[in-house]
Amino acid sequence: MPPYTINDLEHADIDHAIQIADRVWWVGHCQENDIFQCHVYLIEQGDQSVLLDPGSVLTFRYTLRKIEEVIPFTQIRYFVCHHQDPDITSALPLIDQLISRDDAVLVTHWRTRMLVKHYGLRLPFWLVEENDWKLALDDRCLDFVFTPYAHFPGAICTFDPVSQVLFSSDLFGGLTPEFSLVAKDESYFEAMRPFHEHYMPSRDILGYALRAIERHPVRIIAPQHGSIIPERLVGFMIDHLKTLDCGLYLIARGDTDIQKLSQLNQTLRDITNTMLIYRDFRDIANSLLEITQRVLPATSLEFHARLDEQRVLHLSPESRYRGIEEAEPPAAVARILDLDHKQWSELNAVNAAEFLLAGDSDSLILMLPLFSPAKGTAEAVAIIHLAEPTTANDALHQIIEQMSVPLQVAVEREVIYRQMDLERQQIYERSIRDPLTGLFTRIYMQEVVQRLCDIQDRSPGHRVAVLMLDIDHFKNVNDTYGHNQGDIVLRRVAAEILATARSSDIAVRLGGEEFAIFVVGEAVVNVPQFAERLREKVAALRFEAPMADRLITVSIGAAIRQPQETLLDLIQRADTALYAAKHRGRNRVCVAPEVVDSLLAA
Ligand code: GH3
Ligand code: MG
Ligand code: MG
Repeated sequence: MPPYTINDLEHADIDHAIQIADRVWWVGHCQENDIFQCHVYLIEQGDQSVLLDPGSVLTFRYTLRKIEEVIPFTQIRYFVCHHQDPDITSALPLIDQLISRDDAVLVTHWRTRMLVKHYGLRLPFWLVEENDWKLALDDRCLDFVFTPYAHFPGAICTFDPVSQVLFSSDLFGGLTPEFSLVAKDESYFEAMRPFHEHYMPSRDILGYALRAIERHPVRIIAPQHGSIIPERLVGFMIDHLKTLDCGLYLIARGDTDIQKLSQLNQTLRDITNTMLIYRDFRDIANSLLEITQRVLPATSLEFHARLDEQRVLHLSPESRYRGIEEAEPPAAVARILDLDHKQWSELNAVNAAEFLLAGDSDSLILMLPLFSPAKGTAEAVAIIHLAEPTTANDALHQIIEQMSVPLQVAVEREVIYRQMDLERQQIYERSIRDPLTGLFTRIYMQEVVQRLCDIQDRSPGHRVAVLMLDIDHFKNVNDTYGHNQGDIVLRRVAAEILATARSSDIAVRLGGEEFAIFVVGEAVVNVPQFAERLREKVAALRFEAPMADRLITVSIGAAIRQPQETLLDLIQRADTALYAAKHRGRNRVCVAPEVVDSLLAA
């Protein structure tokens, strides 16, 4: 036999047994057009030899010929089955016929025995857990590594401490369209990926198995299918498997295209990453489009999402995903919004093509309801625009359905941000607008008028004046006609103030039936006339029953701000003028004297 090195193995003749390590032989068989290969291994130990994962009915005659190239078949005492799959165990009945010695045993885990016993073999079981997970041989003692649920509850691997080969069974197995006995480079991981994503139930379970394996000084990994992993790639493959998302079978259902599922898995992972990385919905949407384009000829994405019972938010590339409130979402969207899963599938079953692929020939769109997990109803609809017609087959449905979960999360998050913004806006509005009259509040006045005063101090052309207005005998209105009528009066007076003031004036309800109007700029000089006009207009107001005969009047105090005068002082002077107007009989205007005058007078 030629000496072996891992490089020689690449060119080794697979029609013969191939030595891969000290007294360790590959005796498998290359099946044409089969991405699952049956790698069988032989540990030559004289008449105590070990055959690992004997193989299937399809391959065993080739394996037998290769074994015989190394040792007579009768020298094999131990037949190790790492789990029960047919590609590993279906050759056992043939083997059972061939065995002539009494001490031959089937080495496996008790969970595997529960199934393999149904072959009705004469060959007795030798259970690893009853033998301290060790098998002592002539020059070595094999260790069995328990790798439960990856992918069978009783799955085990075998480690040979002398050759440092790990016989890993399904772990590290790859789906290889082209047979290659040895993994050439890191790209073998891509052959392992879909198999592991699909067959290993979860990352945790795979991680448990990998940690169990890592306790052994593994130099070569010899899986039951795929390629043998040489020393330089062992660390790489273990590390990369650790980060793999498994359990793809959970979403597979009808689909048997593992490569496609693997791609979908990658897509879902990318969507999740996108949402972790980006905060801005525009970035998220653009990234989602890119990801969608891997599975569909998508040209753009838009979303309609419920903000609350009345309002729907439209997020589209036209508004750069800024999100615009729409009074009426498009009819097709409105039909989907608020449906629960059951209603949606009923609608979809009757009319799948119409709903999933709606639109006319030039604007093919795909409508995707995004169900809120909390409410169980479609709180948003994603619309995927397509460049070309796409058949709404099962596979597409499935991909789309899977994508809808992360899309839903992205949109819901955006809606929550939006609701928070709106609430903040409303709270702000409420704090600056008096709900009864719609005029500004005292809070707003302090903020804004102070700024106007500052501007005046820097550029004296920008003058500021204030009218203080108080409804006369308002208490009597309340007492005579009730508070509701009182409120009507307040609103009518406020409306008159707004109608008379210019848009640059700031009208404030200070509280009760007291108002202030701040006037800025040129108009300041006309403040006495403005006040008089306002007084007349209020006096001319006519009310409906029961106030048809009631006249409402106001008293006004006006003051023009002097440079450097504080806001408080200005208001104080206007208030004094107002008091004077009241004192002089109400329904009149008084203008405060200029500060300069009062200073001179002092
Ligand atoms: P004067 O001519 O001296 O200003 O007399 P007045 O009755 O208008 O003044 P007073 O300050 O004694 O009474 C103001 C009343 O305004 C007392 C309060 O019950 C009433 N009021 C304050 N806020 C509201 C409101 O929001 N709605 C109604 N309907 N009444 C209000
Ligand atoms: Mg008052
Ligand atoms: Mg009053």
